[in-house]
Amino acid sequence: MLFSTPGADTTEDFANSPSSGPNALPALPNRFAALGLNANLLRAIEATGYTEPTPVQEQAIPVALAGSDVLVSSQTGSGKTAAFMLPALHRLSAGQAAAGTGPRLLILTPTRELALQVTKAAEVYGKFLRRIKTVAILGGMPYPVQNRLLRQGIDVLVATPGRLLDHLQRGRIDFSRLEMLVLDEADRMLDMGFIDDIETIVAATPATRQTLLFSATLDGTVGKLAAKMTRSPKRIEISSAHARHENIEQRLHFADDLSHKNKLLQFLLRDASINQAVVFTATKRDADTLAHSLVASGFAAAALHGDMRQGERNRTLNAVRSGGVKVLVATDVAARGIDVLGISHVINFDLPRQAEDYVHRIGRTGRAGRQGVAISLASGKDIGAIRQIERYTAHPIPVHTIAGLEPRFAGRAPAKKPAGRRPGSPRSTSYSTRNRTAPRRSA
Ligand code: ADP
Ligand code: MG
Repeated sequence: MLFSTPGADTTEDFANSPSSGPNALPALPNRFAALGLNANLLRAIEATGYTEPTPVQEQAIPVALAGSDVLVSSQTGSGKTAAFMLPALHRLSAGQAAAGTGPRLLILTPTRELALQVTKAAEVYGKFLRRIKTVAILGGMPYPVQNRLLRQGIDVLVATPGRLLDHLQRGRIDFSRLEMLVLDEADRMLDMGFIDDIETIVAATPATRQTLLFSATLDGTVGKLAAKMTRSPKRIEISSAHARHENIEQRLHFADDLSHKNKLLQFLLRDASINQAVVFTATKRDADTLAHSLVASGFAAAALHGDMRQGERNRTLNAVRSGGVKVLVATDVAARGIDVLGISHVINFDLPRQAEDYVHRIGRTGRAGRQGVAISLASGKDIGAIRQIERYTAHPIPVHTIAGLEPRFAGRAPAKKPAGRRPGSPRSTSYSTRNRTAPRRSA
């Protein structure tokens, strides 16, 4: 899914960033506003370019705002940082700070890298809030600097457990005014052997605190730790259905040559069930060429790729968000992270080079739990690539044909069955624009 690849962050940001500036569109109606967050946090969210909360955000934020302890399990990349940072910052900005200089919010993370990401998130989401001082205390940093930081008044403390425990045991941390404790990636912290450190740290915090625990799983030792340190917690388990793309119907069409591919594409794009589509090409040049030819055929199409200037890309993305562009012809990198609910179809005009890119591509549709359709156009030479994708996703892609546009090429395996049967594709269907759910073959 969108959020699942390490290293995708910068491109996510690129794709999601451009909603402010002189040409900014008016704020899109969105479900963030319904979560109960204050206006300054909503402004910050808008500035990031997020249009809708992810499922974990949508479920966890209201529960956390209500003051409950929360245990959350959800996939990597599902947006957990904002799911705790937003309600935590809301709480800090709403309440009165008690006297003292100790942190009001403590976030424990397993690694330095993650701690720095979380610190950055505190700054990004808190940028319109006044007086939120965030400090990161990580292993590997010089003690004198940290000692100085800890003597100042702190609102948010982000820390790795080992180093934090050092400071705690030297009496340098005052948890008396701590309101909220967040354990991010609790499962990883336990894997790394931090259990005793965590228990000691938690024991030093006030029992009145609110505790949020995030983990890929709530089973086993994580569950036990969670039970020990929370009070009547609400459990939120986000099914990984989206990660498995169960809401995205995948189809494969074989094409004999480029002209056949173009005919298939035109036919598919005229499908009445398409709201908006992203069409992927292998190269930037192909994206331009194809977008031009689609415009010439009467489609509201536009290209998006890395050779375009930032301003141009922003305009195109805004036009996609507002619905003015119906067909976006894009390359992998340019389309990463695009999060537009109106995208009902993804079409791979060319197959991606990497199976992983296939997953990123199809994740542009079926956003926020909606249904999506992902169609790949392939030729005989793509059989290997298709197999790789199917192995990677553990999901065979059913072969479809369109009446009148059947390929001469028979499919993924040499025909062993009687003529008329497409080997390896028992669910082959013929359908027209009117009849999308064609009956299965009876033979
Ligand atoms: P997790 O902690 O679940 O692994 P992160 O919080 O690190 O996931 O988020 C993964 C990526 O998703 C980040 O690049 C983040 O900016 C982006 N992201 C988070 N929330 C949203 C949203 N509501 N819409 C679009 N992108 C989002
Ligand atoms: Mg995370």
